[in-house]
Amino acid sequence: MEYKFSDLANGLKASEIRELLKLTAQPEIISFAGGLPAPELFPLEELKKVDIAIIDKEGKAAVQYGTTEGYVPLRQHICERMKKSFMVDCGIDEVFITSGSQQGLSFIPQIFINPGDIMLVESPTYLGALNAFKLCGPKFVELPTDDKGVIPEELEKILKQYGDKIRLAYVIPEFQNPTGVTWPIERRKAFMELINQYNFPVIEDDPYGELRYDGDKVPSLKSMDTKGNIIFLGSFSKIMMPGLRVAWMVADPAIIDKCVKYKQAADLQTSSFAQRQVSFFLDMFDIDAHIKDICDLYGKRRTLMLDKMKEYFPAECKFTYPEGGLFTWVELPEGMDAKELMPKVLEKKVAYVPGGAFYPNGGGENHFRMNYSCMPEDKIVEGVKRLGDVLKEEIAK
Ligand code: PMP
Repeated sequence: MEYKFSDLANGLKASEIRELLKLTAQPEIISFAGGLPAPELFPLEELKKVDIAIIDKEGKAAVQYGTTEGYVPLRQHICERMKKSFMVDCGIDEVFITSGSQQGLSFIPQIFINPGDIMLVESPTYLGALNAFKLCGPKFVELPTDDKGVIPEELEKILKQYGDKIRLAYVIPEFQNPTGVTWPIERRKAFMELINQYNFPVIEDDPYGELRYDGDKVPSLKSMDTKGNIIFLGSFSKIMMPGLRVAWMVADPAIIDKCVKYKQAADLQTSSFAQRQVSFFLDMFDIDAHIKDICDLYGKRRTLMLDKMKEYFPAECKFTYPEGGLFTWVELPEGMDAKELMPKVLEKKVAYVPGGAFYPNGGGENHFRMNYSCMPEDKIVEGVKRLGDVLKEEIAK
């Protein structure tokens, strides 16, 4: 059968990372390619108790349809966590539950972007977000970054150039994916000043903000937002379990109202039961103690990976020092291509994600992303050593 797919469907490309992950899923590969949380920390025993408590306490209501905005007790919990973890004072009418923050990333451009409109994105940025945005056909304008995030002077030039043609921006100020970079407070203030001057909505995607291993907490952009320009996305994927697909958006009620309409068309609501699993977990257990266990393990793995990269990688390779999150970003000497190196790397049974995929308009080939959260310590040491051998060989050529 030859199907007549739409132009949009015919234009979709398989995610490069998903294709790569298929290759790296073989058990003998030491994969630094994915971005998975460590499964050994999933709180399964607690989940069993939570499930029983939900059924005992709420019975049939727990598996009935619910409101599109989300389960009220969970939205109340989120208001509390926004204050405690992200320094944001918000009301329940500003909180919207989504099926993963990926769903927020797919709705927001749909409510703001017409094909050809200008959208600003950090360069490089999260590939899954770029794929979601592409469905709306924006023209991506990349915001140059350094080891402190978006560079205000560069942003200002872009704002002057495109002015009120800019419809939306997307940034990850905390432990960025793919670079691991966190914006210091001065950068955040400068960014907010410019955004408030030009006035357009900005997605602040923050799935990793609570996973800090050292350094001081920095206020979120949303906490500095006086005009309702910031749309904050948070997620339980990295602090609890990604398979529940429970995440949240904090935004002006007018924005939420439009997203609710999209959600009604997409899936009506996030799973009633999964929302309760998160909410009851927050009632019955100490999420902060759980987050501390995650930080202890990932922090140890991060430090080990960076120490071994210093030891085994050739001096010509630079990499970031993330204070939290899941990734470090490696820069190879100019002219090298991390994608071209992949077959040699895979031959040694190691994997990373080549950097080019994270740039919407091309470039960045001499970079790759390394994840440290889901490989045990002995494999981190062995994998980095093998990678170091390939890199040394290539650089010596
Ligand atoms: N944003 C970023 C920056 C991510 O890295 C991810 C997942 N890796 C997501 C959003 C999506 O997370 P989820 O849908 O599981 O909440």
